[in-house]
Amino acid sequence: MARSLRNGDFDLALAIQSPSSPDRWYRVLLDRARALSGEMVLSCDCMGWRQDARNAAARRAVAAGRNDAGLRVPRGCKHTDAAQVLLSTPGVAAMPRYRNDHPYIGATRTRWAPLREFVPEDGWGIQEARITVSDEPYHLVLLQATGTTGTTATAAIAFATCHPATLGSRAAPVGDWGGYTIAASFCRQAGVPLAGEPPLHFVEELSGRGTTRRAAPHPGSTTREILAIGDQRDLGDGLTPAQRAENTLRLFLGPQHALLEHQGFLDISSGLYPGRVYRLRRDPQRRYERRVRVFEQGSYVRDLCIVRAQSVPEADHFLTLFFGLVADEQRILSVVQRGNIFGTQSDGHERETVPAVWRPRAVQAAAEAASA
Ligand SMILES: [Zn+2]
Repeated sequence: MARSLRNGDFDLALAIQSPSSPDRWYRVLLDRARALSGEMVLSCDCMGWRQDARNAAARRAVAAGRNDAGLRVPRGCKHTDAAQVLLSTPGVAAMPRYRNDHPYIGATRTRWAPLREFVPEDGWGIQEARITVSDEPYHLVLLQATGTTGTTATAAIAFATCHPATLGSRAAPVGDWGGYTIAASFCRQAGVPLAGEPPLHFVEELSGRGTTRRAAPHPGSTTREILAIGDQRDLGDGLTPAQRAENTLRLFLGPQHALLEHQGFLDISSGLYPGRVYRLRRDPQRRYERRVRVFEQGSYVRDLCIVRAQSVPEADHFLTLFFGLVADEQRILSVVQRGNIFGTQSDGHERETVPAVWRPRAVQAAAEAASA
């Protein structure tokens, strides 16, 4: 199986805008497994990296049958160079704090429903700097979030300054890339890597001798769908808040969204109580929130009633609950009072025929990556 960002093999280290087109972004990815063993291995989806341009001469020598293949250098491009500098620079921890009324934070919270719940109002930091990437001037935005559990995540978004931009126009990409990076990092730190699609990116594919460029074809990641995320922005797209919430959920869950559609529920293994599984169900009509069925050591034992905030679309509630049980299980459970705990089948008589199998989080992550 190909390793991919979607399958949790990589972290998004930097989203960097192309100077030639404001809509084209390159993703610099950090290989997670290699990082755990202390190696910083970065990749990029630009042509230079894909063709390993820095070693092109050495490759041509090999192809020409000359044995002196020449000196090979580590594979890289100007974008991985920039990310390397960024990742090697300490001091990100002490970031100036901003509140929700900052456009970057507003956009991020609008686009990523779970972050509204799990990053407190004073939990956001922003730092901006001018940097140069291969003689090209860039405006770097670092967005940092500290969750209710104290988990911290930082996203890096670099804008090519040759494109005219304002604070407001930069907010949407910061929200898309930053929100994705932070949500993915929170999940990874909780031991359950985010399986969803990252936001819009562009891939460059070789086509004969020439090069064609096209947008990534993954469903749920088109610009329009990304921009349609959130329920506070009217883009004239004709989508209702419920439809936008569904787009976010699909984007976030990735392959698991199809599983949810198919079986009507998703299981989450508890990170706090070995043997416990939460079964999150959905109303087929998407009108009501369903109670969470709790399994202990494989047996269905009780229901938890966790109600949604007023006027929140059902898909937003499902996503917030899903993310909450992954990233901040303690807090979710703390709001469940005695009056919210019910016996089995308290809101439906469906019998449970699919076994609820608890897996330690690291094992769960590996299994999800393998099945994706
Ligand atoms: Zn690159």
